[in-house]
Amino acid sequence: MDGTRRRLLIASGAGGLGLALIKLRGTGIADAKAASAETFAVTHSDDEWRKLLSPAQYAVLRHEGTERPYSSPLNDEHRAGIFACAGCDQDLYSSTTKFDSHTGWPSFWKPLDKAVSTSRDYSMAMERDEVHCSRCGGHLGHVFNDGPRPTGLRYCMNGVAMTFKPAAA
Ligand SMILES: [Zn+2]
Repeated sequence: MDGTRRRLLIASGAGGLGLALIKLRGTGIADAKAASAETFAVTHSDDEWRKLLSPAQYAVLRHEGTERPYSSPLNDEHRAGIFACAGCDQDLYSSTTKFDSHTGWPSFWKPLDKAVSTSRDYSMAMERDEVHCSRCGGHLGHVFNDGPRPTGLRYCMNGVAMTFKPAAA
């Protein structure tokens, strides 16, 4: 088998997942290139993630699922503390930036410094900015421009993609 043919076979073997991801993210060519150029400190194969996470966490973090509104206990978490990534434990949001958006999803007006990255998402017939953990790439939710001051941003998060660490009393 010559090299070209082997590459084609490898490409078609990996094509299933690659296509699914591109479809889910729905990015243009430029965005897809940017997304693939982003590297993460914590990486696992899809199978490893499936074993590491609960089915609900896996669906949201690794396949950009969305939890049912008002389904996460973190929606009603009002203690002081830190919301962290359920995939890699990176700290993502401080409770001081959490607000009640009345959407049924935990919402914040600012992430911790360098905690999250965004990519353009054209799925669901909408143009949205997808938000993911900067350490493991796990999908967290979306960010919108209708948040409160001072940023005007609304980071709409899936509670199942996060854990809560209460501040020491
Ligand atoms: Zn993470």
